[in-house]
Amino acid sequence: MKKERLQKKRTPWLEVTLTCSIVLLIYIIITFTIDNSIVQNIISANNHQSTIEVTDTDFENIKMTLETSNDSSLSYRLVYPKTEFETFNETVHKYITDAKNNYISNIRKKDDKEGHLNIDCTIYPYKENYYSIVFSKIETYDFSNYDTQVQTYFIDKNNGNMLQLHNILTDNASHFTALSKYVQNQLLQSKELAGKITKDTIVKAASANWKNYSQFAIINNQLVLYFNLTNEQTGEQLQPTVKINIPFINPIMLNEFQSKQKSSKTILTKPKPKPKQSPKKNVKRVALTFDDGPHKTVTKEILKVLDKYDAKATFFMLGNQVKKNKDVLKEVKKRGHEIGNHSYSHKNLTKLKPEQVLLEVKSTNAVIKSVIGEEATVFRPPYGATTDEVDELVKLPVALWTVDTLDWKYRNKNKLLPVVKNSVRNNSIILMHDIHQSTADGLDSVLAYLKKQGYEFVTVSEIIENP
Ligand code: ZN
Repeated sequence: MKKERLQKKRTPWLEVTLTCSIVLLIYIIITFTIDNSIVQNIISANNHQSTIEVTDTDFENIKMTLETSNDSSLSYRLVYPKTEFETFNETVHKYITDAKNNYISNIRKKDDKEGHLNIDCTIYPYKENYYSIVFSKIETYDFSNYDTQVQTYFIDKNNGNMLQLHNILTDNASHFTALSKYVQNQLLQSKELAGKITKDTIVKAASANWKNYSQFAIINNQLVLYFNLTNEQTGEQLQPTVKINIPFINPIMLNEFQSKQKSSKTILTKPKPKPKQSPKKNVKRVALTFDDGPHKTVTKEILKVLDKYDAKATFFMLGNQVKKNKDVLKEVKKRGHEIGNHSYSHKNLTKLKPEQVLLEVKSTNAVIKSVIGEEATVFRPPYGATTDEVDELVKLPVALWTVDTLDWKYRNKNKLLPVVKNSVRNNSIILMHDIHQSTADGLDSVLAYLKKQGYEFVTVSEIIENP
């Protein structure tokens, strides 16, 4: 009775309002409590209608939302994930909402209301625990110019934590520098950027500053870095990416993020040192050697000729001669020639006892060292007579010769050149003696000839170490 009375008292206006409120309440309850509902129609804060479809994905605990505008003057299509982690969801929500609000406010300023905003989202799993979530946004207000942008998140799927690049790399500044240098080089070589962006801009955009490395994903075992650049002349947007195989950067990543695949070459691999200066292919070399000195006068004359041709030679000295001509040894050394040991008293070593051989070699080294502060670096046995046992005792590289000028036999300055001419070839070791005046006298013509033939004058060690 009471109820009926009340109903009668209502005005039609109140009845309409009440009914509308109940319908709206039911609508709200339905749309917001039934989480499994696939399609929702909502009135957005921007006072227009949109449709939201939520679908499952292949990824644990991630649903994908597709939001499309129902307002033809506000065309947009947005795809974004929903996880069980509030902080991440809020971050995504803010990204989507900001993009949408910015787009709507731009559209509403336009008379023709033309435009479209599209945001797509792709999820890439990495190892057991991580997802790279890559948003790509395309925005246009005239359907001829497009503004595109990439936004990435790298999350731990167990707790929704968002990781930055510095959270997955080692805490080592030199590692980050190595990465930055590598990326700069890749960008500098990029055909997409060639001629559009200055070198300086590229180097700056990829410098070792974490702000430059905020957009990244791991896709198919590659680290993908995204950059936003603008062509300074045309204003054209350029979005180069640099892809780096994870095994290549394993050593600069924390264990947890390293690839199980190994790479022999990594970002920290030092470039191989250049092989020891190998003889230039087109340059012929010859080693001039002078035995049995040093001689008080002849050696000095030979030094003069060598200097004239800027030639370096090797002098195999006898210990007993060094004792007599210490100053000559000093001069030979001073002019940059190689000092060799030729035994102390020029005996045939193959006929000596091991102790005598040692004495011949060691005493010569001792006297050489007493004069110039260092021992001989190479050995030549008298008469070229040696055995494996002698070579073993000497403990110095043993250098014989390939061209014998027989200067000791001819003692004729005009006979030196013909012998050399007949037998010299690349890497020849020429035997002469700096104790015969005829050798000093004939040397100039030999050097002139060899120089003209394109020979480079090197020490005997340079030839035996690098034949
Ligand atoms: Zn000799």
